[in-house]
Amino acid sequence: MRRASRPAFPALALAACTLLAACEPGADRGKPVDARLAAYIAGIKAVDNHAHPMRPIPPGQPPDTEYDALPLDGIPPFQLPWRLRLDNPEWAAAARTLYGVPAADTGKAYLDALGAARARVLRARGTGFPSWVLDQAGIAVMFANRVAVGPGLMPPRFRWVPFDDPLLFPLDTRGEASRTPDTRTLYPRETALLRRYLLALGMKAPPNTLEAYVQAVIGPTLRHQHDSGAVAVKFEAAYLRPLDFGPPDPAAARAVYARYVHGGVPTRAEYKTLEDYLFHEIARDAGALGMPVHLHVLYEFGGFYSPGGSEPLQLEQVADDSTLRGTDFVMLHGGWPFTNQTLALLGKPNMYADISMMTQFIEPSQLAAVLRDWLSQWPEKVLFGTDAFDGGTPQGWDQGALLASNSARRALGIALTGMMRDGEITRARAEQLARMVLRDNAVRLYRLKL
Ligand SMILES: [Zn+2]
Repeated sequence: MRRASRPAFPALALAACTLLAACEPGADRGKPVDARLAAYIAGIKAVDNHAHPMRPIPPGQPPDTEYDALPLDGIPPFQLPWRLRLDNPEWAAAARTLYGVPAADTGKAYLDALGAARARVLRARGTGFPSWVLDQAGIAVMFANRVAVGPGLMPPRFRWVPFDDPLLFPLDTRGEASRTPDTRTLYPRETALLRRYLLALGMKAPPNTLEAYVQAVIGPTLRHQHDSGAVAVKFEAAYLRPLDFGPPDPAAARAVYARYVHGGVPTRAEYKTLEDYLFHEIARDAGALGMPVHLHVLYEFGGFYSPGGSEPLQLEQVADDSTLRGTDFVMLHGGWPFTNQTLALLGKPNMYADISMMTQFIEPSQLAAVLRDWLSQWPEKVLFGTDAFDGGTPQGWDQGALLASNSARRALGIALTGMMRDGEITRARAEQLARMVLRDNAVRLYRLKL
């Protein structure tokens, strides 16, 4: 470096100081998160819009198999993004925070020690274990997206979000299932769950006509879900087909149903006609019952999963359907990585997005950039979520909840500190935005009484 350039440094430093407004006494200059704001965010008791908590199972009892309608352990092995892999040390750090188990590696000795420590806490807490997990993660209420709930996962700390994909598939799904190695194992699970829904209504098979199916199966199933405490209903249809639910054609749907209800395999185009019609019926019913519709909108998971089929803009027809404006939709997982498309839909009055799973598999700095984009335009449409799920001993839903909650708070801190230092918002507004994302937006959308 040339000598002549030296005198420029003090002036530069001063300019940076003024711009960043970070030179007040005690300010954590250079740190990405303002310390006072971080402390404020840490104290907010959150509402988790989407997760798969596990029932606390006493020793010797059969395992919990109802945590997801489409558990992915049945599909061919697939790659996970880096942050979800076990060699990411954040997983062991979360286990250490929760159970005090130090990890030198992730070998058998560690897994045994963690399994034993976790079992001790579970035994001591019993059905209070899931609520204890929420306490550790600063979560007031977690939405349990599960086939069924049960002891330990009940209100007020847990609220149920059931699955309604099975209702889309009353006909033979073998044609649909044959599409990819992933869908081959996923469709039969939907068929089995529909059978369970039908049995609950005293039916062994779908009724003869589409009208009867809508009236005697869809209506009562949604009513039952609502009356059992459901706050929303969930579709993970993106694992099965593109999210381009087109305008319903009732006459064509009726004809497809009548042709195949007693047997035969519909073509893909025929099944889509029926699914599109049924999706609208279900979404409208859910809205009438005050239940928002959750949609898995994310480019993963699975070796044969369609990233293009799950782009947020596939939902444009749904978002612009005037007959669905009485229903609120939440794009779970924020449509990552197509977050600009998500932003484009947030302008519709009934479209929302959550950051579940983004809080686990992208770094807080990346999430912060997305949040800043969304919050500067649609601050009332963004919801916190973890997508905490069971990944076995080293990656329990409990560790996921803690990791995701910390990541969300860190990302919010970075985004809001940046907006404050750039003079876009005041400290009071930053605190308000943090409360909105972590809690208040969900309280308003679901009319929660906390
Ligand atoms: Zn999920």
